[in-house]
Amino acid sequence: MDEGYLKFVMVGHVDHGKSTLIGRLLYDTGSIPKEKVREIRHICDSLGKEMEFGYVMDHLEEERGQGITIETTQIFFKTKKRNYVIIDAPGHVELLKNMLTGASQAGAAILIVDASEGVREQTKRHAYILSMLGINQVIVAINKMDIINFERETFDSIKTELLNFLKNINITPSYIIPISAKEGDFIAIKSQKLPWYNGPTVLEALDSFVQKERPVNKPLRFAVQDVYNFDKRIVAGRVESGLLKKGQSITVLPSREQTKVKSIEEFLKTPEKAEPGKSIGLTTEDKLFIDRGNIIVNSSDSSFNITKSFRANIFWMDKTPYKLDTPILLRCATQEVMCRIESIIKIIDSSTLELLDNNTGIIKNREAADVIIKTDKEIMIDDFLEIPEIGRFVLGKEVTVAGGIVKGKTI
Ligand code: GDP
Repeated sequence: MDEGYLKFVMVGHVDHGKSTLIGRLLYDTGSIPKEKVREIRHICDSLGKEMEFGYVMDHLEEERGQGITIETTQIFFKTKKRNYVIIDAPGHVELLKNMLTGASQAGAAILIVDASEGVREQTKRHAYILSMLGINQVIVAINKMDIINFERETFDSIKTELLNFLKNINITPSYIIPISAKEGDFIAIKSQKLPWYNGPTVLEALDSFVQKERPVNKPLRFAVQDVYNFDKRIVAGRVESGLLKKGQSITVLPSREQTKVKSIEEFLKTPEKAEPGKSIGLTTEDKLFIDRGNIIVNSSDSSFNITKSFRANIFWMDKTPYKLDTPILLRCATQEVMCRIESIIKIIDSSTLELLDNNTGIIKNREAADVIIKTDKEIMIDDFLEIPEIGRFVLGKEVTVAGGIVKGKTI
């Protein structure tokens, strides 16, 4: 079994079968306790219905509320090969918000399309977001094949339409699989009802994906959260990427001052190193000025980029539109700076992918824009596709009105 988790998002138009497929994946991999299955079956029986896999999700949702078995929006299951985490997003705004704020970082996606309805608005919006976030391990599941009698023609025509759309946004799906989430065809088992399809099941397709490179092999980025003056001065923060080691030479950004890590401090421990995702404290050899919002990097690494101006893709998700040059707060890891969007290169309707008039100087709700951002103070940023933890940001003070990623080779 591979270590770690493969995280993936489940996306698609409302009612196309996300919850049902999640319920089915959990059921088919034996991830739901037997009593729970019995209970759900009992509820369905008493309602005179067949077993509804969507109910599994409703059930989990209840427990989620009480904080018993599952974390907020993450659902766990495993195959023989590895552990999985499904990131379930109710809508594309939540999806984007989660992914951009780092609440969830997906290495793969299942895009689900109802075979009886075909490609719809949210199918396109969600696909667009996957593309923007550089998720390139994508399974398209054409669901509800039972409704169209498992016919090949309808499947082929949806496949063609979708592939045309996805090509425009640089997504090449790894697999396009006809399924019935309700009846369980081609989720965990191959079925005789689809003799014309000889590709993998959804689980086989997932198992063929690779896990994201562990950020431990990437350059060090330590985001400073706070500095405490006890008998010794402790710099508290989070290792966003790379490895922090005792004795290592470090550079504090944006001041560029250098020192060495004297010790790494954890509760009742002083470890030799700290891995990505760890919130720890450190002490330094020299007493430099360090403050919240500083980013600490390895002194031998010059890959960092400190700037007051950069190009980004943003996704506006607030009813109030943005007017060019309006000051707004930008937050990236623990860094907070005032900024302005000083130029809009293009604006795209995230659903139709239509290029909108960008001379208006306004970005409206649900529009994606390719922009140049100017900050009041220097900020340290990375290309989103290289170090997503420091390559993504949000705009807005109390309310997040937009999410963005620092643009490298994205669309
Ligand atoms: P979501 O909004 O994407 O989460 O969609 P749901 O999973 O709630 O499914 C919406 C409706 O479609 C429910 O009534 C499901 O029972 C139904 N449904 C889901 N998958 C299938 C399927 O494979 N076949 C059929 N016939 N119905 C399905």
